[in-house]
Amino acid sequence: MNLSYGRPYLAIPGPSVMPEEVLRAMHRSSPNIYEGALVEMTEGIIPDLKRVARTEHNAAIYISNGHGAWEAALANVIAPGDRILVPATGRFGHGWADMADGLGADIQLIDFGRNQPFDLNRVEEALRADKDHKIKAVLGTHVDTSSGVLNNIAGLRTVLDAVGHPALLMADCVASLACDRFEMDEWGVDVMVGASQKGLMTPPGLGFVFAGPRAVEVRAGMERVSRYWDWVPRFNPQGFYQHFGGTAPTHHLYGLRAALDMIHGEGLEHVWQRHDVLARAIWAAADKWGEDGPLTLNVADADQRARSVTSLRLGLPYGHQLREWVETNAGVTLGIGLGMSEEGDPDGRGYFRIGHMGHLNAHMVLGMLGTIETAFKALDIPHGSGALEAATAVMAAG
Ligand SMILES: *Cc1c(COP(=O)(O)O)cnc(C)c1O
Repeated sequence: MNLSYGRPYLAIPGPSVMPEEVLRAMHRSSPNIYEGALVEMTEGIIPDLKRVARTEHNAAIYISNGHGAWEAALANVIAPGDRILVPATGRFGHGWADMADGLGADIQLIDFGRNQPFDLNRVEEALRADKDHKIKAVLGTHVDTSSGVLNNIAGLRTVLDAVGHPALLMADCVASLACDRFEMDEWGVDVMVGASQKGLMTPPGLGFVFAGPRAVEVRAGMERVSRYWDWVPRFNPQGFYQHFGGTAPTHHLYGLRAALDMIHGEGLEHVWQRHDVLARAIWAAADKWGEDGPLTLNVADADQRARSVTSLRLGLPYGHQLREWVETNAGVTLGIGLGMSEEGDPDGRGYFRIGHMGHLNAHMVLGMLGTIETAFKALDIPHGSGALEAATAVMAAG
């Protein structure tokens, strides 16, 4: 019996579920890009983005995905030959480092594997060994979307200050912005990158770069920065087009406006708490399933897990059987395992990810968990009992 005819649910870690409010806001004819409502609306978007980033400093919007935001951030402060330190977990730290490699940076990468956050002691060692202060920036991924690891970005600032190292602290918050607590100014982050399609609930296509005063100073000392990525005109535009280096991303801006209204209407602190409760409900269910079957959470310690994405291993052939079943028979799409094994190793198909970011509430999570449990039964995948009871208990306690 196929039970998928109804509203589909994309439970992957981006693009995330789009609220009706966002979709409705985008459904309009092309606006005037020279004057009027769009221009006025954009002036209000910048401060509301900064509120999400918890910064009083600068915000720029690029017409790009997260990769574009990565490049934009680097292009303003990293010149060919500059050294960067990248403590990497999972896949996304490697991705940002590769972007820097393309810009000619000298990369010092410390790999912490696929199921634990970076170790601040080893970061400290690397900074202490850099006596001449060659390292110009430390790049940290807040939430690694492949492994589901949550890294300690505030801890990187503590280590930099303890060593007395002047490197910039740069954070990738594409998968954590408006999901997991992030305090740009309080944590001493100099540059942060985000994107529209995860916690911000807007289609892919907008990349965000936030920069504090130390980063602005480093930018001022750069010999050259490519025109399109240069954040200077975007931070202080003389004309509306300079916000975007050309035509504005008209419909995305209407969608983003609606999303920011929803986030600030709920309250950012509440948004974080909601993600926390829903994430813990998912983990409680997974713990129960794993008590009597092959399912394991990729990150053992709950304090080291992201509140926006969870990576799980079922092993073969169950992992991809599960994803296929829930999509085909129940209308729920789960994320594929990403970067959890070497390229070409079939073991990677034994992993899957649950995206739980953005426009998400209790009944969606319970429906998704119930659907997974239904698939376990339909496919005869061994699993412990009591998962849904455990999830509802977490939600009831709040
Ligand atoms: C999704 C993601 C990116 C890349 O974003 P794209 O829009 O796919 O280019 C970068 N970093 C993290 C942590 C992400 O989750």
